[in-house]
Amino acid sequence: MVGNPCKAVRLDGNPCNSWAVDGSDFCFTHAPTRVAERAAARKRGGLAKHAKHGGDPALVPGEIRDLAGVLLLLDYAKAEIIQLDNGIPRARALIALCDSYVNAIQTGTLEGKLAELQAFAVDLYEQLQERNDGH
Ligand SMILES: [Zn+2]
Repeated sequence: MVGNPCKAVRLDGNPCNSWAVDGSDFCFTHAPTRVAERAAARKRGGLAKHAKHGGDPALVPGEIRDLAGVLLLLDYAKAEIIQLDNGIPRARALIALCDSYVNAIQTGTLEGKLAELQAFAVDLYEQLQERNDGH
């Protein structure tokens, strides 16, 4: 059985092409009796788009100015991504996150080694100065 076409006129002036529902003259979108139902459907759709937080945004520094801050942000991103639905976008995000962790950790390791080397050079220089002053 084929229904009746909706009798509403769309905002662009053309007739609505949907089928009337419930024996009325209007489709779901245009049925005056379905206003509350449409609002509820819109709300459900809106809620579905907003996934719950996996991480705590309060743990992310307001301004990130050092490696520790970067790692806190990465930890937050990881907590957010890990709880998303499994799929290609999530896998890509996790792989990108791995790259960011590796870069941050490598940078931190290099900075630490550089600081050690600098301290060693300063110490060596001072020892040489003392030795020269002794003669
Ligand atoms: Zn309609």
